[in-house]
Amino acid sequence: MNQVDYIVIGGGSGGIASANRAAMYGAKVVVIEGNLLGGTCVNVGCVPKKIMWYGAQIADTLNLYKQAYGFSGEQDTLNFDILLKNREAYIQRARHSYANSFVNNGITFIKGYAKFLDNHTVEVNGEQYTAPHILIATGSSPKVPNIPGAEFGETSNEFFEWTSLPKSVAIVGAGYIAVELAGVLNSFGVHVHLIIRSNMPLRQFDDMLSQTLYEELVNSGVSVHQYATPVSVTKQKNGMLTLATESLENIQVERLIWAIGRQPNVSKLGLENTQIALDTKGYVQVDDYQNTTVEGVYALGDVIDKAALTPVAIAAGRALSERLFNGKTHAKFDYTLIPTVIFSHPAIGTVGLSEKEAIQMYGKENIKVYQTSFTSMYTAVTNHRQSVKMKLITQGEDEKVIGLHGIGYGVDEMVQGFAVAMRMGATKADFDRTVAIHPTGSEEFVTMR
Ligand SMILES: Cc1cc2nc3c(=O)[nH]c(=O)nc-3n(C[C@H](O)[C@H](O)[C@H](O)COP(=O)(O)OP(=O)(O)OC[C@H]3O[C@@H](n4cnc5c(N)ncnc54)[C@H](O)[C@@H]3O)c2cc1C
Repeated sequence: MNQVDYIVIGGGSGGIASANRAAMYGAKVVVIEGNLLGGTCVNVGCVPKKIMWYGAQIADTLNLYKQAYGFSGEQDTLNFDILLKNREAYIQRARHSYANSFVNNGITFIKGYAKFLDNHTVEVNGEQYTAPHILIATGSSPKVPNIPGAEFGETSNEFFEWTSLPKSVAIVGAGYIAVELAGVLNSFGVHVHLIIRSNMPLRQFDDMLSQTLYEELVNSGVSVHQYATPVSVTKQKNGMLTLATESLENIQVERLIWAIGRQPNVSKLGLENTQIALDTKGYVQVDDYQNTTVEGVYALGDVIDKAALTPVAIAAGRALSERLFNGKTHAKFDYTLIPTVIFSHPAIGTVGLSEKEAIQMYGKENIKVYQTSFTSMYTAVTNHRQSVKMKLITQGEDEKVIGLHGIGYGVDEMVQGFAVAMRMGATKADFDRTVAIHPTGSEEFVTMR
């Protein structure tokens, strides 16, 4: 039996961050990773997605906006091979830097899938390890529906393995991954069918965001199929797929992506050999300090039912190691006011409560909402005008800003600083006192009346 101070299962965003922080305080750490170091974000998530999104922005500039700014010339075409080559090279560099951080911090890296044998023993590649502290940071995987022909579809994981673009694609789902992939593929000239179960995408976000995104998706040529629930997929002799929906639609496409949600990676962990409990949705159950129901075993990141975002997993992982290995006995991650961006077309930035949530929490009479809507200046001189919409939600007499939402060109790079202000308790008066930066889109956040 190998004995160490800290066993980290999962070498993704949360696991790597927690392991490095623990090792910096002198802990003897083992990281066990069954697949690629870096986990979802680096290999099949945020990073390749964002590079594709940048590529899509260039496509939009060339196809939609170039001429209005006086540029002309031959039709520009996308060489997908070059985009993939450069994307993969970037990811490779990120993986190397993780591996180097392990070497520099004296962390032992084991390639293999870990399984609990009992509450405090983990087996990997036939070897047994034990430690007073064990972290489960095994992330999540895409869900696939249980309908006939589902196997003809792919998920976001396989999307990042595509070596060429189809002429048409159906993307099933209404969450952020679905709308992000829809936007990217649409900009690359693929005919996108977005299949959503209800009327709007991103329904858990502020209504202004989902409504505006819906309109922009339709305006940009995405075929949005509302109230459409897939019932089967069949493959034709010519390779085309037919997606049949409950409402008797038959959608013909070359490829199909399931983006219907994700599930925690727990099934192969051997949790049945332990007293580690799952919650009603199947995620690992934790308290505010990431403690599972077994003392000395912790969980964080996408394997628990909290905001599934890389910076959240990283911050929770570091806070845990501060608590366990640096004597900060009360260190924990605060899961409120998490800012986030959706790399849709156009981008969405959001911090804090939606209007509905604010009303539910404080009552309609205690909140005040400010909104603005305009055409982004970048697109205003072109034939492809795109709207920007922004909303501030304030609470109480001092009008503390508790929700900030925007959709439009450039919003992705606007909200981080506002999130700092909100964490510090900024009020509408603080926003108003701040001099606008002109001419920008973000100035609208400090000039709303
Ligand atoms: C398409 C897509 C786009 C995304 N875009 C963004 C974005 O823009 N911004 C953002 O913040 N977040 C984004 N995310 C979410 C982000 O990737 C996750 O929130 C983050 O990766 C979670 O980190 P984690 O450490 O919990 O899990 P992961 O990073 O998934 O790491 C878990 C690791 O554990 C390994 N593992 C699983 N079981 C075992 C086992 N038994 N033994 C050993 N290893 C095991 C897995 O192989 C994996 O490498 C995106 C996700 C997807 C899918």
